[in-house]
Amino acid sequence: DINDLNICGIEVKADANARILPVSAGLADELFEHDGQITKREIRAMTLSALTPRRGELLWDIGAGSGSIGIEWMLADPSLRAIAIEASGERVARIRRNAEAFGVPGLTIIEGEAPGALAGLPTPDAIFIGGGGSDAGVLDAAISQLRRGARLVANAVTTEMEAVLLAEHARRGGSLTRIDIARAAPVGGMTGWRPAMPVTQWCWIK
Ligand code: SAH
Repeated sequence: DINDLNICGIEVKADANARILPVSAGLADELFEHDGQITKREIRAMTLSALTPRRGELLWDIGAGSGSIGIEWMLADPSLRAIAIEASGERVARIRRNAEAFGVPGLTIIEGEAPGALAGLPTPDAIFIGGGGSDAGVLDAAISQLRRGARLVANAVTTEMEAVLLAEHARRGGSLTRIDIARAAPVGGMTGWRPAMPVTQWCWIK
């Protein structure tokens, strides 16, 4: 039976429920344990694309939530490293479980609030801000830690965070993208477009 595997001489029955991971970014949300605070699949794929991981690089995932961005960054290549910074202790425990379930136990997890929690971390090649970006000093601290040529990607769902990103774009340049997706869903007996909250994404190279 082609579904049975022989691993180290042991017959293993293929598990119909086994997680078979595609190699592209933008894994299904359901593959992650999360509490609703997760960068949704399509947005995550675009975010990973904007972060442009290159071999050997280090990512800071600030406001890591479920850890999905740092985990997908590490899945892209075994040489990639990531540090997840997350303020909520409950979510930190969830990030640890997700990292183990995805086979990237090497993900470094820092429990604490940015910007304070960023002090002393090794210099990143790329930074993603998925939470806390409108808190005082977070963006400035992130930017000051980047070396020249390193990348910053920040996503805004709230108007407060969007205002911060519009101001940074006006001041520093880079590119702004608005990601506005809708999924078809049942409406009575018919089908209609259910919009997701739009995301404003700022990408910048120092
Ligand atoms: N990208 C994540 C979702 C982020 S939700 C994912 O895909 O799972 C935003 C997260 O930012 C929340 O978990 C929140 O606890 C965290 N957060 C908010 N402000 C923060 C701060 N100042 N420092 C660290 N984490 C913060």
